[in-house]
Amino acid sequence: MGQLIDGRVVAKATLQGLRPRIDGLSRPPGIAVVRVGEDPASKVYVGRKTARAERLGFRHEEVHLDDTASQAELEAVVDRLNADAGIDGILVQLPLPAGLDSTAILDRIDPSKDVDGFHPDNAGHLSQGRARFVPCTPHGVMKLLEHTGVSLEGKRAVVVGRSNIVGRPMGMLLEQANATVTVAHSRTRDLPSLLAEADIVVAAVGRPHFVKGEWIREGAVVIDVGINRLDDGRLVGDVETDAAAERAAFITPVPGGVGPMTIAMLMANTVRAAELRSS
Ligand code: NDP
Repeated sequence: MGQLIDGRVVAKATLQGLRPRIDGLSRPPGIAVVRVGEDPASKVYVGRKTARAERLGFRHEEVHLDDTASQAELEAVVDRLNADAGIDGILVQLPLPAGLDSTAILDRIDPSKDVDGFHPDNAGHLSQGRARFVPCTPHGVMKLLEHTGVSLEGKRAVVVGRSNIVGRPMGMLLEQANATVTVAHSRTRDLPSLLAEADIVVAAVGRPHFVKGEWIREGAVVIDVGINRLDDGRLVGDVETDAAAERAAFITPVPGGVGPMTIAMLMANTVRAAELRSS
């Protein structure tokens, strides 16, 4: 039976490690989180992010626009936050309501305040192995892998999903840690045979229990990024956790695995942004 990786414990240690860096700044780090519309999951995520910022003593601002907001209104908010010297990090919670151009919005955020790491400047830096802000979820996954003590060097890793937010940067980080990486997606043929060879599996698909327990190689490390709400209200990941845990050496639960790490790494990126501004 595999060992569960407790993301809450690793997140707590990560946040504690930020304390001396926060105390070393001449003013508290500032973060602004922008939310548009009434997506219930986005509301929960934004609430968690601002609550954590508050507990760390950050200056924090939540901007909420209703779902009739125009592209120009949202751009004006980004421009104002870009110009605010007390704001180090800006995050626009995705997904935006249909009709808004999220790529144009993300491109408009000052790259030095892009604590989500989604701006093409930051994505480019990451792809060349000289990251400024690593996207929070894949960065958190790397910390969880580090926590297991399993070396990534020379290992075969399969990332399922290739989004700009999770799968693609995840593949880059694993490759930079000297794993041999396959990034699978919806056109991939025969995923089970790829997973049969995988020492490390990161699932970021967005489909409940998509990765079957029997696909997991004996002794693999399995990181489940998925967050899916079932009709009965339960929150589950992309992996059949119980069945996969029979074969895996380590596995993350949902909830309580990757989710808390995403928030911890957002705080870490905001501290880094504040340090870069003050240096
Ligand atoms: P996207 O929908 O942007 O990407 C999903 C990816 O899965 C795509 O690359 C898609 O392939 C791939 N995919 C879809 N179907 C299949 C299939 N049958 N076989 C293989 N690959 C497939 O999602 P995100 O990356 O934004 O998020 C993924 C999951 O992670 C979601 O559940 C989301 O809620 C969760 N998440 C969790 C976070 C956390 O903090 N824990 C943070 C961010 C996301 P293609 O490119 O070909 O369409």
